[in-house]
Amino acid sequence: MKINTTKLNDFFQSPIEISGKTYFLNNVLENETLEVSINKEKRTIKIDKIINASKYRIKPKCDIYETCGGCKLLHVEYNHQLYLKTEMVKRLFKENNIKATVLDTLGMDNPTEYRNKNQVVFGYNNQRKVVSGFYEENTHKIVNFTTCYLQDKVSDKIVNTIKDLMMKMRIMPYDEDKQKGLIRHVMVKRSKLLNETMVIIVTSSDVFPGRNNFLKALLASNKEITTVIQNINSRKTTQVLGDKEIVLFGKGYINDCLCDKKFKISSKSFYQINPIQTKVLYQKALDNAHLSKTDVLLDAYSGVGTIGIIASDKVSKVISVELEKQAVNDAIINAKLNNIKNIHFYNDDATRFINNLVNKKEKIDVVVMDPPRKGSTESFLKAVLKLKPKKIIYISCDPHTQVVDLKSLVNDYNITYVQPVDMFPHTQHVENIVVLNHKHYI
Ligand code: SAH
Repeated sequence: MKINTTKLNDFFQSPIEISGKTYFLNNVLENETLEVSINKEKRTIKIDKIINASKYRIKPKCDIYETCGGCKLLHVEYNHQLYLKTEMVKRLFKENNIKATVLDTLGMDNPTEYRNKNQVVFGYNNQRKVVSGFYEENTHKIVNFTTCYLQDKVSDKIVNTIKDLMMKMRIMPYDEDKQKGLIRHVMVKRSKLLNETMVIIVTSSDVFPGRNNFLKALLASNKEITTVIQNINSRKTTQVLGDKEIVLFGKGYINDCLCDKKFKISSKSFYQINPIQTKVLYQKALDNAHLSKTDVLLDAYSGVGTIGIIASDKVSKVISVELEKQAVNDAIINAKLNNIKNIHFYNDDATRFINNLVNKKEKIDVVVMDPPRKGSTESFLKAVLKLKPKKIIYISCDPHTQVVDLKSLVNDYNITYVQPVDMFPHTQHVENIVVLNHKHYI
């Protein structure tokens, strides 16, 4: 069947109407003519042939692009990806009746191998060979890969060594359905700048036959590794990491350097995955908030304390709140590493914490909020309005939830800056900075 693609939606899909049903077509651009086949039962649509391609279409530099689904925009010329992301943010603001000037998305000079964290799942293929990769979209089928366009090459090499060793040493990947086998996932976190690399091997049990030989061989062929952790996750869960950890080699964490500050990163703490763009993100956010030396700043959803620590020189005091205990422990060490004394960390739910600040009538001049993808809570936003900070810096990895949250703030605040930053080139995601100024303080 021959079709023409329409305007792309927020997930960069083209909705196609066929006999009263809507199908969402991935891997296309606007105004393309395609030959497609429809599977009415499964409600799926597949491209058979591109008849008339967009001028922005390029050949994806990855063999598993279509099955993996991680990079939704690898078929789009990079500058046009940035344009599409800007348009998406603009549209979201417009649809939610929020008036603001959205600046052009800031992209990368070299948008490849940018990830500092690599996480893969292990299994067998039909020939009973060990494979590792990501789950195919909406399935439990592993898309095997040996190299990924977004990953650091050192991480790829380490994962490939582990795959080879598992075959040689007959170490079984874990099978979730049968609940059999040992290795579930491997996570590699890396600081390119300091050349420190952490390998986390997630196993279903703490019994790891041949562990010492495995470790020796892994380290011998990957000199970049500075620490190895065995994480034990025996539960039937989609969560990757379990609670128990054994440090098999090195100090059990890595350090990284960001905006001239040093950071400790553990297995579980959140740390931005694109270090080059994180620097752009934090600098743009802080510069455009025009902080003053007398400001008290609240850094909510603070992770390992990065934003607060980087802002600490520019304000009088920072209060940081984060839910994950390991991240808070790292944040406290990070402040010490950088000899910063005007920062305080709290391990709490951000909503509960900010409501306590309101009850205590605490004076906060600037609120930085960087919540997870699902956004903040109504109660958090109400508390912000009561705290009445002069400025709010809202950093978000999902502008869809961010605009919904912004609706609660725009009666009292003017939006002065909206800057999307391309933290995740070739994927459908974009990070967005919004700075708001209180109407009464202008
Ligand atoms: N600002 C940090 C982290 C942002 S990611 C940075 O730029 O690196 C979001 C963080 O919010 C994660 O560290 C997550 O653990 C934390 N988080 C999630 N839910 C939370 C909650 N209810 N209260 C406080 N922190 C939360």
